[in-house]
Amino acid sequence: MSEDRNEELQPERPRRQYDTGRDWVPDYMRRCGVCGVEEDVLVVTEWTRGLCRRCLPRAVENRVLSDIRRRQMIAPRDKVGVAVSGGKDSATLLAVLANLRRRKPFTLAAVHVDMGLGDFSHQSRQAVENLCRRYAIRLIVEPVEEYGVRAEPTGPWPVCAVCGGLRRAIFPRVARRENFDVFATGHTLEDMLQTMLKQLMSGKDFCPKPVLPATPYDPKKIKPLYFVPERVTAAYADICGLEYAADTCPHFPPDTHRFKDVFEHLERLAPMAKIQVLTNLGRLMKAPPVAERPYACEDCGEASRRPLCPLCMLRRIQAGENLQVPGEGL
Ligand SMILES: [Zn+2]
Ligand SMILES: [Zn+2]
Repeated sequence: MSEDRNEELQPERPRRQYDTGRDWVPDYMRRCGVCGVEEDVLVVTEWTRGLCRRCLPRAVENRVLSDIRRRQMIAPRDKVGVAVSGGKDSATLLAVLANLRRRKPFTLAAVHVDMGLGDFSHQSRQAVENLCRRYAIRLIVEPVEEYGVRAEPTGPWPVCAVCGGLRRAIFPRVARRENFDVFATGHTLEDMLQTMLKQLMSGKDFCPKPVLPATPYDPKKIKPLYFVPERVTAAYADICGLEYAADTCPHFPPDTHRFKDVFEHLERLAPMAKIQVLTNLGRLMKAPPVAERPYACEDCGEASRRPLCPLCMLRRIQAGENLQVPGEGL
């Protein structure tokens, strides 16, 4: 009785209720696997454990650190560049790596491509700037306008294809200029699974890999969150009070990520199914081949698959030139 009254006297503090949607989970996953409390526990079936608000951040950092070590993603004193969009996944990646610097010596710089898409880009850039200030991380901002291009539908490509092409073109240039040993992106468990499913559905067996070695064109690429579900990156960002902007840009078709629902459903039916698909199917699928780039771009000299690199091709089309465009992606 008195306890009830005490509780009423407690000031109400905002508390995030996690919807697990997983009715079948065993009791032990409903408790925090680290400290044992039963309140505010996020059930992470993918890791077969529950995690409370207090223990989750450290547990995520431990998990990422063990994957970094197991996959030899980062060597001591490496210069690590991180692609940061302003969304929660890359914000979490940046914060996790920033905290891991205390336990593993490497240097960190964030790279943000400013697409110049009005409010969305402005808020994204603001979020990235605040995050970098908080964790004392050097930030490199690359506005696409400085490359003489705009993120807009161009030739046969919709705005999302242009955006993706710009990122793919700009990140390696920055990595080379800054002498990064490693370039990290915030792809999550569900990103990996979705890409694998799309590959299989189109009859291909190339799969995203958590580590891709350096090539003559690109730095070594790593995905330190490849084992981390998005519910967990969201919880990490929320608990640590990370600033982040909207995850998806206003031009992004809302059903682009619909395949992720397939894996949520699967996980509900079968515990750990996501991880099993990722590891077992991942073994059967190949790393994407390195596309040869036999040309030096006519305009900028960059090694390219075609006489014009994607950046210069976009720039020329947007300037009104009537170019013969290839019948494939950027
Ligand atoms: Zn706990
Ligand atoms: Zn070029």
